[in-house]
Amino acid sequence: MTRYREFHRRSIEAPEDFWRDEARRIHWETPFETVLDRSNPPFARWFVGGRTNLCHNAVDRHLAERAQQNALVYVSTETGIERRYTYAELYAEINRMAAVMRSLGVKRGDRVLIYLPMIPEAVFAMLACARLGAIHSVVFGGFAAPSLAARIDDATPALIVTADAGARGGKVIDYTPLVDEALARAKHKPPHVLRIDRQLAPERLNASYLVDYEPLREQFFDAHVPCEWLESNEPSYVLYTSGTTGRPKGVVRDVGGYAVALAASMEYIYEGRAGDTMFTASDIGWVVGHSYIIYAPLIAGLTTVMYEGTPIRPDGGIWWRLVEQHRINLMFTAPTGLRVLKKQDPALLKKYNLSSLRTLFLAGEPLDEPTASWISDALGKPIVDNYWQTETGWPMLAIQRGVEALPAKLGSPGVPVYGYDLTLRNEQTGEVCAAGEKGVITLGYPLPPGCMSTVWGDDRRFVSTYWSSVPDQQLYSTFDWGIQDDDGYVTILGRTDDVINVAGHRLGTREIEEAISSHKAVAEVAVVGVADPLKGQVALAFVVLRDADRYAADKARLKLEAELVSTVDRQLGAIARPARVHFVAMLPKTRSGKLLRRAIAALAEGRDPGDLPTIEDASALQQVRDALAAAAGGKT
Ligand code: AMP
Repeated sequence: MTRYREFHRRSIEAPEDFWRDEARRIHWETPFETVLDRSNPPFARWFVGGRTNLCHNAVDRHLAERAQQNALVYVSTETGIERRYTYAELYAEINRMAAVMRSLGVKRGDRVLIYLPMIPEAVFAMLACARLGAIHSVVFGGFAAPSLAARIDDATPALIVTADAGARGGKVIDYTPLVDEALARAKHKPPHVLRIDRQLAPERLNASYLVDYEPLREQFFDAHVPCEWLESNEPSYVLYTSGTTGRPKGVVRDVGGYAVALAASMEYIYEGRAGDTMFTASDIGWVVGHSYIIYAPLIAGLTTVMYEGTPIRPDGGIWWRLVEQHRINLMFTAPTGLRVLKKQDPALLKKYNLSSLRTLFLAGEPLDEPTASWISDALGKPIVDNYWQTETGWPMLAIQRGVEALPAKLGSPGVPVYGYDLTLRNEQTGEVCAAGEKGVITLGYPLPPGCMSTVWGDDRRFVSTYWSSVPDQQLYSTFDWGIQDDDGYVTILGRTDDVINVAGHRLGTREIEEAISSHKAVAEVAVVGVADPLKGQVALAFVVLRDADRYAADKARLKLEAELVSTVDRQLGAIARPARVHFVAMLPKTRSGKLLRRAIAALAEGRDPGDLPTIEDASALQQVRDALAAAAGGKT
């Protein structure tokens, strides 16, 4: 372990020296004056005074050496479309998109909200923003209109880029009505909405505010738009993520620190070299998509594969077919995808030539041991789990094979990554935990380059949310529990807050509760996450009705359950849909009125909720037990 330990130690003890060296990986139009500005903790500013551009580093810089190499390979099993873009072609498309955006008034510092399915234009749009110095905010295509409206109001974009439709599992999802509703709800009215017309939507809806992309693209076909040279600490993007309140937080990323961190991670964690091909099966709406479908592979000169479709259509061999066809070297996904594939015919894995594949990376949710062993045996290649969050932008825990190929330990994403002063702390005292003792995973100041710089428009929230949970100490809380062994390997034990993780998607239980509460039949609701063999966790809702007598009959309750589920679909999107809604007469709470969500989750998972000395009325627990037993018996 010496090489890893020494590498990590140097990154923590001498961060300026360490990151000054790493900063050579990217192009600086103007060199930075100061590696790290610590004058205003917990804020940290990296590479102060340096001017650079993410699009230049991801695309323009490679034109001299790899103009004819594929930069982006696009495969959609939803539409049957496959397209390849060399670096030269990608450059041309980004310039067209940037010119179109500029013609619509977008300029440096403006926000552009991108609400798009997995299509190449999403990549062009993100990189065009980077080129113009505009700040993109990608909203996952699965979010419903009210969620979109909340993000429009927070980011106040100058432009929205959307499509006529998305597609999933063979089903077309019309985007125009969603955007229509979101715009009607939002207070902020962006001057323009640009539409990529895929000719997929069943009805040609033509709202007056929609500007079609294709004619404008033609108009600016030969455009060259110069890169804006941004100061390293200007924002590059805002990505919203769920927290404990109903209001999503806009995670802000800088420019220079992000580029350097991603470039370094491609060597030390992913071992990706220029000319390699990487396939990250995620979505551009999530942080993994931002970092490892788009920016990191392109900054490092790789070919990135973008896939629209599910892992099981046309059959469960599709991902492996992509590996064979495109000679994929690095693959990255979330454990849920593998758990889905594990249920498929094992012969599908043997059917394709996977010799190009070097390593499979996993992140986003806990990797359970059965899935890890299954895929490791089936593939016979290293499986590297890595732990991070939207806020950090790149891994905090991993086996860093490019530094030292330490052995993997099942159930652990590995050891702290260079740059992260990661410690486990006692929740109350803030003291460092001994090996084997459960604690909150925290990071010391400063966070390394590439991590969030603040909450969009709300510096105070950045400090109060992330830096205030350990009294008197300058520590960032991840809100994850963990346990570290004698060798430094950390195992993740779940969240300390009310955030749940469904199929690798992070959801705030408060948001789901707010959606359910908006139904007039609901007096009170508690949403908890419980273990699920396929999705890792699923949401369960426990509802107290205003008028329980009205819903006494099983049929009435089933109908109400369906209504509540569709309320969540409409307000948040299907990803937030609770697996079940249980009806109870009261919810377990403390005497001060705080919901005892952990106790409810324990009961739902068949565990003992433990001692609850502060509970207001212990019979509420029995209510929860009865509701669960009735549901297990087939009744609501
Ligand atoms: P997100 O910000 O949506 O990427 O979600 C981040 C959260 O997902 C973390 O705070 C963890 O709770 C969980 N998570 C991410 N990666 C892992 C992993 N490799 N193992 C266990 N949990 C993970």
